[in-house]
Parts: sequence; C-alpha cells; structure tokens
Amino acid sequence: MSALFHRSCNATLPWADQGEGCYIIDRNGKRYLDACGGAAVSCLGHSDETVKAAIREQLEKLPFAHTGFFTTEAAESFADALAAHAPKGLDRVYPVSGGSEAVEAALKLARQYFLERGEPKRHRFIARRQSYHGNTLGALSTGGNAWRREPFAPLMIETSHISPCYEYRGREEGETPEVYGLRVADELEAELQRLGPETVIAFVAEPVVGATLGAVPSVPGYFKRVREICDRHGILLILDEVMCGMGRTGTLFACEQEGVVPDIATIAKGLGAGYQPVGAMLCSAQIHDTIAGGSGFFQHGHTYIGHPMAMAAAGAVLGRLTDGDVLPGVLSAGATLKGRLTDEFGQHPNVGDIRGRGLFQGVELVQDRETKAPFDPSLKLHKRVKSAAMEAGLMCYPMGGTIDGRQGDHILLAPPFIVTEDQVDELVGKLSTALEVALS
Ligand code: PMP
Repeated sequence: MSALFHRSCNATLPWADQGEGCYIIDRNGKRYLDACGGAAVSCLGHSDETVKAAIREQLEKLPFAHTGFFTTEAAESFADALAAHAPKGLDRVYPVSGGSEAVEAALKLARQYFLERGEPKRHRFIARRQSYHGNTLGALSTGGNAWRREPFAPLMIETSHISPCYEYRGREEGETPEVYGLRVADELEAELQRLGPETVIAFVAEPVVGATLGAVPSVPGYFKRVREICDRHGILLILDEVMCGMGRTGTLFACEQEGVVPDIATIAKGLGAGYQPVGAMLCSAQIHDTIAGGSGFFQHGHTYIGHPMAMAAAGAVLGRLTDGDVLPGVLSAGATLKGRLTDEFGQHPNVGDIRGRGLFQGVELVQDRETKAPFDPSLKLHKRVKSAAMEAGLMCYPMGGTIDGRQGDHILLAPPFIVTEDQVDELVGKLSTALEVALS
C-alpha cells in the first residue's frame, strides 16, 4: 500500500510522468489531453521553456531567502509588473503559496484594516452559496459549499451566505438578465440590514464561479450594484480570482469585464501555471497605507511568502500572459471552444447549459432539459464522466450536483492557452465519448 495519504482514497490514479504542451503522459506512455489544468492551473501547458528557464536561473543564483531578512530582485520585479498590469486601484502585492493562503490573507488584512481604523465591531463576512474559496478554515468559512463546510462548521468564522448570480437556474421567467442581476445583488443589501452593516467586514465573491458551479459568470450590472452597496456601507469588496484570474477569461483579471475594482483581490493557480506553487493577494494603496501608517505591520505571514523560485516563475508567467497576443488568443480560442461545444451538445437531451468566458467554460448536465431537473446525486454522474474521460485520454473537471441540491452535475473546461483548433476538436470528441459512456 502507498504511503501517500491521498492515494489510499484513489488507488487507481495513473502515474503522471512527462509533460508535453497540452498533454500529460503517464508512465505507460498513455497521453491525456489536459482540458482543465487540474483546476485551471496549467495555463501555459506542461513544457513552457521560458518559465522553466526562469526557474532554473533563479535556482542557480539563490533558491531561498526569508522575507523577514531580505527582499529579492525576483519578488520586487514580479510585484511591480503585477501592480502595473492590475486594474487601477490594486496597487500593492502580497505574494503567498496558493489560493487558500491568498484568501486567508485577504480575510485577515480586511479585519486588521478595520481594527486600525478603530472599527473593532466589524467581525463578520458575507459571501455566496455555491462558491469555493479554499480549504483552510477561514477560506472554508466564506465558501458556500455545504458538503465541504459541514464537518468543520463549529470551527468557522462567522459568515452568512446569499444567492450566487446563477442565471441558468435563478432567473425567473419574464425577468431580464439585468433585473435578475439587481435582484440577487440586492440580497447583499438585505443581509447587511439584517446583520447591521457596521458589524460586517467584507463581501467575498468569485467574479466567475469555478469549482462549485462550473464557470458561471454574473449577468451585466450585477457586480456594479454589489460595488455600490459595499461603498454605501463602507464594507470591503474582496474578489477571489484564484481560478478565473490570470487571463483565464480573456482579460488578465476577470473583474476587468465587470467594470469594477475590488478593494482586495486574490489570485493563484494560473499565476504559477503549475510550475511553482504560488499565489498573491492584491490590495488598494489605501488599505496598505492605513496599516503602514498605523501599527506598521500586517499581522500575518508564512515562511514561504515571496519564495524566490516561485517569484521567478510567477514573473515569467506574467511576462508570457501580458506579451501581446496571448490574451486575445484566449478570447478567440474560447469562442472556438464554446462554438464546438454548442455544435456537439447544444441539442443533447442531458445538457442544460453551456456557459463561461474565454477558456473557462462549463457544461451543466441535467436529467431533463425542459424542467432542468438534475440527475439523482446518488448516481455520482460526475465521477462516471471523470473516469470515462480519463479512459478516453482526456482530463476534464466534472463536479457533483449534490451541493445544496440546487444544480446539476457539471463539467468544467479550462485548457491551456496554447490549445490549438485540432486539440479543441479532440477535446470535444473525447468529451462526447466520455458522456456517452457515463450516461449509458
Ligand atoms: N479560491 C478559488 C476560487 C478556488 O477555485 C480555489 C481552488 N479551487 C481556491 C480559492 C483555493 O486554492 P488552493 O487550492 O490553491 O488553496
């Protein structure tokens, strides 16, 4: 038996051995087309020479220097470049090792900001049902996935959850998308009134919902209304772009498409592109300066923040993503992917919705297209899709429909930005085979 803890729950995992562009090759030589990057991680594929060279170079120079003692060229130039490319107003960069860590840092920074301003009564967060913000206790508290939260509920920080903006299931007949968006955004106002706005620190949301709903963007106007409500009550807006950020939706930050700038943003996954475990929290100069001019110290920190090799990788990835054609390429490849998915599954009796932005697309599976009734969760359809896809040589990211019983199983697609048209065809063909097997 393997000593590797997670293998005891998943003994059939193939052994990944090599990476080549959009493919992972196992030790038997079987090739898997990577259509999800694990969970939207591998945005540059598995053999990007620029990123590999940057890591090698840093390794030769200096693998590690603790941020309590030194700053490094790798960290400084990465932070400057990220701040320069981020939406105006996200001015300071706090590097971390991954997504949950970024969210954890954001929650603590927001609380400390209000403490420094003499507002200690602010102690709770508002987030959304059917959201995922990570697995550490703070991040899990803000996440709205009931199944993940349940065992740890007594250990959590106080967070209440409102509806996500989930047009496929939430918009009522006759309601325009705009009216629907304002209606669900106004749940934030109602929740603030219920709790007392002076007790709330921040509203936390993913601009495009990833793991729990499968690439669900909001409708136009939703985030603008959310921003207005936050400003009216002086609460912070934290946008979690761990999955949808770093170009995944066709702009470097997904919130650029909403015309809204958060007070704090979190990124990870695509930032390291899988070459290093790295994430970052970005915040406004105002938040930074309040703390810098107050206690002078953000009361937080992990050993590996600003790890030079992670910074070298993140700097190189950022350079690749902001280099001319890459992001427009995400939009056009995304349109191709959506078009092929629609051709193949648009009339499929068990596909209820195809949605997403850029190379972040979701396919929602339903038992009945007319009523949108999900499959019985006990069928574990998503697991069947995943194993049939792996069998067919395709990595995609199916998730279950058991979360709050409010949605069907869905398949998240997030291929590398270097995906070709032929590979999009291969992806859709293999997905079709996998669905046929899973539904038979
Ligand atoms: N936030 C979002 C939106 C995510 O999708 C994830 C990971 N799926 C996280 C946070 C947590 O990131 P990590 O797994 O790197 O801790």
